[in-house]
Amino acid sequence: MYNVFWMRRDLRLEDNHGLYQALQSPNPVQLLFIFDTEILQELPKRDARVEFIHEQLVKLQESVRAYGSSVRIEHGTVMEVWARLAQQESIQAVYANRDYEPYAKKRDESVRNLLQEHGISWFDFGDQVVMEPQEVLKDNGQPYTVFTPYSRKWKERLNEKGGIVEYPSQEHLPRLNPSQFLAPSLTDLGFEPSGIPFPPKEVPQSRIVNYEQKRNFPAEEGTSRLSVHLRFGTVSPRAKTRKAFEISPKFATELIWREFYMSILYHFPHVVERSFRPEYDRIEWRNNAQEFEAWKAGKTGYPLVDAGMRELNRTGHMHNRVRMVVASFLTKHLLIDWRWGEAYFAEKLLDFELSSNNGGWQWASGSGVDAAPYFRVFNPQLQLEKFDKQLRYVKRWVPEFGSFSYPAPIVDHSFARKRCLETYARALKP
Ligand SMILES: Cc1cc2nc3c(=O)[nH]c(=O)nc-3n(C[C@H](O)[C@H](O)[C@H](O)COP(=O)(O)OP(=O)(O)OC[C@H]3O[C@@H](n4cnc5c(N)ncnc54)[C@H](O)[C@@H]3O)c2cc1C
Repeated sequence: MYNVFWMRRDLRLEDNHGLYQALQSPNPVQLLFIFDTEILQELPKRDARVEFIHEQLVKLQESVRAYGSSVRIEHGTVMEVWARLAQQESIQAVYANRDYEPYAKKRDESVRNLLQEHGISWFDFGDQVVMEPQEVLKDNGQPYTVFTPYSRKWKERLNEKGGIVEYPSQEHLPRLNPSQFLAPSLTDLGFEPSGIPFPPKEVPQSRIVNYEQKRNFPAEEGTSRLSVHLRFGTVSPRAKTRKAFEISPKFATELIWREFYMSILYHFPHVVERSFRPEYDRIEWRNNAQEFEAWKAGKTGYPLVDAGMRELNRTGHMHNRVRMVVASFLTKHLLIDWRWGEAYFAEKLLDFELSSNNGGWQWASGSGVDAAPYFRVFNPQLQLEKFDKQLRYVKRWVPEFGSFSYPAPIVDHSFARKRCLETYARALKP
């Protein structure tokens, strides 16, 4: 008899809550990861996220070999894999960390039911966030929809709990199940290397110390680049948040934003398809396909927008300040539905996270929680002057800027601003 720890977006051996709990049980623990074909079949061959996960699994495989163990890596639909394992193996219990996305919640519910039919127990734990969505609620039990009071309550709850705990799973690894599973290659999974570089998970301390001063300037290495690691749990959100409170409260606030948007997605799953504020679904989007293509390719004639889109296309990353500018430009200047932009980001971002991406897009379009008021339309030229005055970022991604080959602006700013305000006002009038 053995127990299984099912890894999903917690691809690490240290400070892993579910793994820690599994390793406290009397049975040895087999690590399992499932490449879910229902998700993979939607992705392009050179998907950097699949490559990232694969690379992390190979690293995990090497680490647990020291304990005579291995990660069992399966490839199939989650239900097929579990049906097979439940029937063929002597599993007593399955441990996992909770996931708050609608698809994952449904999947886990189905797996739990299937396991129950086979007499296998299921245990899940909070790990992806410091505060789970049900832990930070208003006094009347309702979820928050404004960030500042949410973060205040988040901190109060943390004080009540006595701080952020650690789950030292790494100290109990000798209790892993003896096994010798081999990792499939990326090609076995039907994928190819993407050519996109992955940021390291070690961040120089000086970067976090200077975070508040530098974080808004896209030409600087001023942010942590931890988003992909937080997305797939290759770093511990608890450890990063604890450290953040010690050296940069501003950085800690950004980590709380991440949890805020996860809480919004958990409590208001309708945001996946619709605007958080229903009246925003009355906006008559222009949805001009040609303009959308120019935005995607970074050929709008607005240098900051174009630099951002080209950075995204080439590296799978875009600086946060620029994400705000390009999202605002698409929804407000071009009046293209935020869902189009959201889907393009979802396809391209290495750190794609449904909750933060949806939150960011609805913030930019004005339709979301705690969003920018619709009449505040970012001026991309002023943003450029403020945040990339020397054009260092622009020149890096748009080398032809300033030459004849660089296109003229796709739309005039004042004209677009007026058109946006009229269109929004029409939709939002009571
Ligand atoms: C339109 C739009 C789409 C976005 N899509 C995503 C996405 O798919 N995935 C994603 O992780 N972030 C997204 N963000 C938030 C933010 O841009 C990225 O988290 C950040 O740029 C990642 O770089 P970093 O790790 O260097 O961030 P840092 O500035 O170093 O921040 C540290 C961490 O805090 C969290 N964080 C920072 N800013 C935000 C924010 N505004 N909202 C939520 N969490 C935040 C992230 O986990 C980030 O890794 C989006 C923002 C916008 C405006």
